[in-house]
Amino acid sequence: MKQDSSLTTPASGQEESNKSPLDFPSNFIQDIISADLRAGKNQGRVHTRFPPEPNGYLHIGHAKSICLNFGLARANDGLCNLRFDDTNPSKEEVEFVDSIMTDVRWLGFDWEERLYYASDYFEQLYEWALQLIQDGKAYVCDLNAEEIRAYRGTLTDAGQESPYRNRSVEENLDLFKRMRAGEFEEGARVLRAKIDMASPNLNMRDPVLYRILKQAHHRTGDKWLIYPMYDYAHPLSDAIEAITHSICTLEFADHRPLYDWFIDNVKPEYEPRQYEFARLNLSYTVMSKRKLRALVEQGYVNGWDDPRMPTISGLRRRGYTPEAIRDFCERIGVAKRDSTVDIALLEYCIREDLNRRADRVMAVLRPLKIVIENYPEGQVEWLDIANNPENPDSGNRKIPFGRELYIEQEDFMEDPPRKFFRLAPGREVRLKGAYIIKCQELIKDEQTGEIIQLRCTYDPDTKSGGPAAGRKVKGTLHWVAASHAVKAEVRLYDHLFDSDNPDDDEDGKVFTQKINPNSLLVLNGCMLEAGLEKVQPGERFQFLRQGYFVADPDSKTDAPVFNRIVPLRDSWAKIQKKG
Ligand code: ATP
Ligand code: MG
Repeated sequence: MKQDSSLTTPASGQEESNKSPLDFPSNFIQDIISADLRAGKNQGRVHTRFPPEPNGYLHIGHAKSICLNFGLARANDGLCNLRFDDTNPSKEEVEFVDSIMTDVRWLGFDWEERLYYASDYFEQLYEWALQLIQDGKAYVCDLNAEEIRAYRGTLTDAGQESPYRNRSVEENLDLFKRMRAGEFEEGARVLRAKIDMASPNLNMRDPVLYRILKQAHHRTGDKWLIYPMYDYAHPLSDAIEAITHSICTLEFADHRPLYDWFIDNVKPEYEPRQYEFARLNLSYTVMSKRKLRALVEQGYVNGWDDPRMPTISGLRRRGYTPEAIRDFCERIGVAKRDSTVDIALLEYCIREDLNRRADRVMAVLRPLKIVIENYPEGQVEWLDIANNPENPDSGNRKIPFGRELYIEQEDFMEDPPRKFFRLAPGREVRLKGAYIIKCQELIKDEQTGEIIQLRCTYDPDTKSGGPAAGRKVKGTLHWVAASHAVKAEVRLYDHLFDSDNPDDDEDGKVFTQKINPNSLLVLNGCMLEAGLEKVQPGERFQFLRQGYFVADPDSKTDAPVFNRIVPLRDSWAKIQKKG
């Protein structure tokens, strides 16, 4: 598989990386639109649509399509519709419709009053089917699904015509109307287009237009007992909405002749055109809705918005911003060939965004208590510390310092190697924004031998502004004052799969067998700096040296819950530099 791991250059296969005057990254679809505009096509209109099927939650792949469709409309002074492709009643639910609208809005796009449903067009689509029958271009076929498949032939062998192909127009009209009236059982009959059973394109071998489904639809209720197929409904829905550029993913390239056949033979007033682009694949991720649904339904994750899911709602709960997702969609570009994007690029985009915006705070995830023996008991000092050195407007805050503090367990070693620049017996470190301390003694649990406390001393002259403020030590640690610490739960997330291509079944394993057993690690008893007890869900911070974190909706007053969005990359080197 091709992996595109470059973080700054556009994905290979992208046609152009120049920005258009409207600051929309140019791509081959924009080029087509520009050429159409120059040629005066569509009276200068650009009208796209985003057509999700409401059978699951949107994922990051959909975000690419949303950014492209709404983005092209915006860049070309055009319009973009939201259209629910709700032609399949059995799998569709109102929950999905609602979540899709929430997610598109959250990503920053607006369909204004142009919210449509393919089901709004059922009557018109039915009328057009009658017209195709009248024109001798569609017929009712009594073969069952299995027989239709067998008659279709293969890539190398022509198909075989259905014995029902040459029914009279009258008989076809009668049967089709009775299909609608519910006279026949599900699967007994279908309506098919009469095209060409010998076509080298299997999609053109008399495709099914309508099937009988005696199921209630979330919008039309029990009104319809026959439902149109996607390939029939989609081009004609585009025609009804006068879509100028109907953009879909590459797997529909083979369906384009059929798209055009319906337009040519139904002859709607407006004739839309289809263009295909490469779908987004991400390493360490499955994107098929069927698989995402299986993860939810079989309990591998805690719902569609589990922060490990590539769904928009999962990414939102994980702490991703719409800006970072849009930036990602811009960076990956629009290609004509499938490839897999390294998930590290997505993580890079959120780091870039939050580096600018997220305030820094101190949080100790695995606390080790230290006692500063020469610091007065009961004394609390409020130290000034910058909220975000990357953002001069973010100001300062006061954090408490006292005799008892927490540091990270991994920042102490009893018997360290030479290059360990953190705390060890007899060694000194700086506590970020505070003093230099020295470890004098360690206290162990008598039973387990576990280190439970460090006894330290501090150098009062080493505070910022103090006489020895400039004294250099090799390491700087984050810390939290025990007296004011806010106890929190912190959820550390990692990739949901431990294979970079979980879809690949060559190793004989299905995707659920490749779930990363360490994709979620819950830490209780983390200690956060004062002030974080009243955090609102959705608030994001950089926990110094740890990464970016967001307050989860499970947070309660005085009991915050944080999700790790992404770790910092070279967190240690960074803090070393900034001291
Ligand atoms: P699935 O096959 O997993 O059910 P889908 O493509 O059928 O997904 P839809 O709801 O029909 O899902 O998709 C709505 C739109 O989003 C379509 O135009 C589709 O091409 C686009 N889309 C879906 N997945 C991706 C992806 N991975 N990358 C880019 N666009 C995508
Ligand atoms: Mg689809």
